[in-house]
Amino acid sequence: MERMQQIVGRARAAFNSGRSRPLEFRIQQLKALERMVQEKEKEILAALKADLNKCGHNAYSHEILGVLGELALTMEKLPSWAAPQHVKKNLLTMRDEAFINYEPLGVVLVIGAWNYPFVLVMQPLIGAIAAGNAVVVKPSEVSENTARVLAELLPQYLDKELYSVVTGGVPETTDLLTQRFDHILYTGSTAVGKIVMAAAAKHLTPVTLELGGKSPCYIDRDCDLAVACRRITWGKYMNCGQTCIAPDYILCHPSIQDKVVENIKETLKEFYGEDVKSSPDYERIVNQRHFKRVKNLLEGQKVALGGETDEASCFIAPTILTDVSPESKVMEEEIFGPVLPIVTVKSVEEAIDFINRREKPLALYVFSNNKELIKRVISQTSSGGVTGNDVIMHFFLSTLPFGGVGHSGMGAYHGKHSFETFSHRRACLIKDLKMESTNKMRYPPGSQKKVDWAKFFLLKRFNKARIGLFVLALLGVVAAVMIKVVN
Ligand code: NAD
Repeated sequence: MERMQQIVGRARAAFNSGRSRPLEFRIQQLKALERMVQEKEKEILAALKADLNKCGHNAYSHEILGVLGELALTMEKLPSWAAPQHVKKNLLTMRDEAFINYEPLGVVLVIGAWNYPFVLVMQPLIGAIAAGNAVVVKPSEVSENTARVLAELLPQYLDKELYSVVTGGVPETTDLLTQRFDHILYTGSTAVGKIVMAAAAKHLTPVTLELGGKSPCYIDRDCDLAVACRRITWGKYMNCGQTCIAPDYILCHPSIQDKVVENIKETLKEFYGEDVKSSPDYERIVNQRHFKRVKNLLEGQKVALGGETDEASCFIAPTILTDVSPESKVMEEEIFGPVLPIVTVKSVEEAIDFINRREKPLALYVFSNNKELIKRVISQTSSGGVTGNDVIMHFFLSTLPFGGVGHSGMGAYHGKHSFETFSHRRACLIKDLKMESTNKMRYPPGSQKKVDWAKFFLLKRFNKARIGLFVLALLGVVAAVMIKVVN
C-alpha cells in the first residue's frame, strides 16, 4: 500500500509542477515513445512471442503498427486538438470571449489486459500524455513478459516521475485502486470492471471501462458468402480468438449454415495450411486456466469443424459448432477463444430480437448485399461499435470512438477521442467590463419588462445567414440601448 502511495504521490507532485502541460513537452515525450517502439521493436516482439506465441508479422501488425500510427497522428494533430475551441455566442455574450479549454485531468491510471498486452497499454498512454496528464500504467500480469518489457523500457524513454509502471497481479491492482486518481481507464472483463468502478466511486474518479461481451455476427442469405466468411475467419481466429471484438457467434438462416462452415473451412486452409498447429500464423491460448475454460465450452456440442486440443501447448484448433442452442453454456459467456458457434434464425427480425434480448455487445457485425438491411440492423440494435460487411475494422479507424455501451463498457478512446477522454473540457467565458447596462435585467429589483427583455435576448432565434452578422450586431447594440432606456 505504501509503495503505491509513493508512486502515485510522486506522479502527482510531478503533475503539480506543471511540466506536463506545455505542448512542446507532450510532443517531446510522444517522440521519445516513438523512438522506444522503433529502437526496441525486437524486445517487444520477443515478449509478445513468449506471452501469446505471436509470430513477428502478426505481432507487428496487431500491436506495433497501430501504436506507431496513433503516435504519428497524435503528434501531428495535437496542436489543433489542444487549441481553445471557440463556441457560438448569444446576444448577451456578443462582445465576450467564449471557448472550451482542454485541460489535463491530473494523474491517470491505465490498467491493461493480456490479449493485446502492448497496444492496450500504449494506446491509452499516448492519449493521456497528449492531454498533459501524469500516468500510472498497470499492464496485465497474465502477459508477464510484455509487462516486464514495459516496466523496463518506459522509464528509459519517458519522464520517470510523471509516468510510471506498476507490475504485479490482483493484490497490486487492488492496492493501486485504493489510491486517488483523476481518471481510470480499465481494459478487461466486465466482472473486474465493476470492481474498478466501485473503487473509483470512493474518490469520485471518472472511469473509462473497455470491457467485453458476446459480439454477434449476422449473415444475411443475400450475401457473398465466400468474401463474408474469409473476413469472419480472419477476425475470429486471429490471436487464437482472444480478441475483445472478435465475432463471438454467428446468426444465420438454417439454409446457409453448411455453406458458412464450408467457406470457413476453405479459408482456414488458405490462411493456415493443412496443419494449423504448425502454422506460424496461428497463436495459442494464453494459459492453462483459459485453455480449460474454452475446452469445456465444447462439451455436448455438435463440432462441425476442428475441436482438436493439446493441453501441453494450450492449442485449440479453429472450431465451428453448428445448431447451437441459445441456452447452452457456450452462448452464456464470452468465448474468448477459437470456437465459433452458429445459432440459426429464420429472419433478420429474429436476429435483431435475439441480439436485443442480451446485454449490449462491444461490437456487432452484419453481412449483406443489401445496405438498407445493414442500416436497419444498426438502427434497431445497440452495441459499442458496428462494422457492416467486415469484422474488427471499425477499431482501426481512429476517427471513430472505440468503446462499449452498457455491460460492454463506458467511454471511448482512439485518436482525438483519447485526447478528449483524458481532458477536462473547461467552459471559459471572459466578459467585457463595459456594457454594464445590459446586465441590469438580471439584477434586482425584478420587473415584467426585464423578464420580457431577457426573453428577447435568450429565446429569440435569428437566422444569421439571412439577416447578416452586421445587422445582428446592430440589433445587439439597439437592444442594449433599449434596456438602458427601460431602466
Ligand atoms: P486480465 O486478467 O489481464 O485483467 C485485466 C486487468 O485487471 C489486469 O491488469 C489485472 O491485474 C486486473 N485484475 C484482474 N482481477 C482483478 C481484481 N479482482 N481486482 C482488481 N484488478 C484485477 O484480463 P481479462 O479480464 O481476462 O481480459 C479479458 C476480457 O477483457 C475479455 O472480456 C475481453 O473482451 C476484454 N477486453 C476488452 C477490450 C476492449 O478494448 N474493450 C480489449 C481487450 C480485452
